[in-house]
Amino acid sequence: MSRIFAPNNPGKCRVCGCTESRPCQRQFEDGPVPCSWLNAEKTLCSSLACVAEVPLDELISILDEAA
Ligand SMILES: [Zn+2]
Ligand SMILES: [Zn+2]
Repeated sequence: MSRIFAPNNPGKCRVCGCTESRPCQRQFEDGPVPCSWLNAEKTLCSSLACVAEVPLDELISILDEAA
């Protein structure tokens, strides 16, 4: 894990750089679906590629916040 994350920038995914106005698209059987924010800070989107980049302990804390 040597990837350098961009500084947390609310409203912009720190992994892929997508924003609310330019979300990345996830391909589903029914067609493309725009990503959504995974955390309240809006610094991580729900793209699986982005989630996979985040350390597990941080993911757990994000899910704790959402609970
Ligand atoms: Zn992303
Ligand atoms: Zn995204």
